[in-house]
Amino acid sequence: MRLANRHGRAHIVLEDGFVDVATASAGRFSSRLDDLLTRLEELGEWWGESRATHSVDRVDDPARDAGLGPVVAAPSQIFAVGLNYHEHAREMGLPSPSTPMVFTKFSSSLAGTGSLIPRVSDTVDWESELVVVIGTGGRDLKGEAALEAIAGYCVGQDISDRDLQMAATPPQFSLGKSWPNFTVIGPWLTTRDEISDPQSLGVRCDVSEVTFQNSSTKDMVFSVVEIVEYLSRVVELRSGDLIFTGSHAGEGQGQKPPRFLEVGDEIVTRIDGLGTLYNRVVEPSSK
Ligand code: ZN
Repeated sequence: MRLANRHGRAHIVLEDGFVDVATASAGRFSSRLDDLLTRLEELGEWWGESRATHSVDRVDDPARDAGLGPVVAAPSQIFAVGLNYHEHAREMGLPSPSTPMVFTKFSSSLAGTGSLIPRVSDTVDWESELVVVIGTGGRDLKGEAALEAIAGYCVGQDISDRDLQMAATPPQFSLGKSWPNFTVIGPWLTTRDEISDPQSLGVRCDVSEVTFQNSSTKDMVFSVVEIVEYLSRVVELRSGDLIFTGSHAGEGQGQKPPRFLEVGDEIVTRIDGLGTLYNRVVEPSSK
């Protein structure tokens, strides 16, 4: 099942359109996607029994729908993992980490596909990432329990202002990655049951039709399950929490010479089976 936050309301995504969950279920399910993340099994059963009877709001290309907002509107925590791909660590001249390097992105930077990215400095960069959306959550999650705590996955773009990120010593990752619209998630949530192996997904990022990142989640240093295990040893993972699982090789800062985002660039971020994000870079004043 694929669920979108469209015009602020939960919709089931079909190949050719959307179905409003609250309307179609006559109020049995909330109109807020955030509220459904712990009820996905029940929602899936209802949808399986009743899908043929609902009217579909038809559109040509659901991924290009202008109403799509961030998959989770109000997560209580947003985690991100740095240097989590072997090849990316190599390109940065660093060894693959032996402990996950965790930072946060602040929730006021959340945005959906189609949102405009302000070019706030000369060093605004892209990072295409698999994003884990927590469903039931919990503490001390291990193995199968860690996997079952996950509601599903979406595509993420961890936009980063390298100047601000490196302006302090040690670097301030969290602030440098939290300008408005710097945390793009979407285009929709794909529930966990649809993704048989989160460690074999192709991840790709094109900027103005040039492919800069093209890898697979196979190359991750710490797997999705290992990251959930590691975080939940310390913090309680809650429904709607997001985990950016790390960027792979090919960021702008790793190009020779470095290539950062320019006004007018279109960033296209895609992950196998999860969809595509389309975001354009604009002057900060027009954000
Ligand atoms: Zn990142």
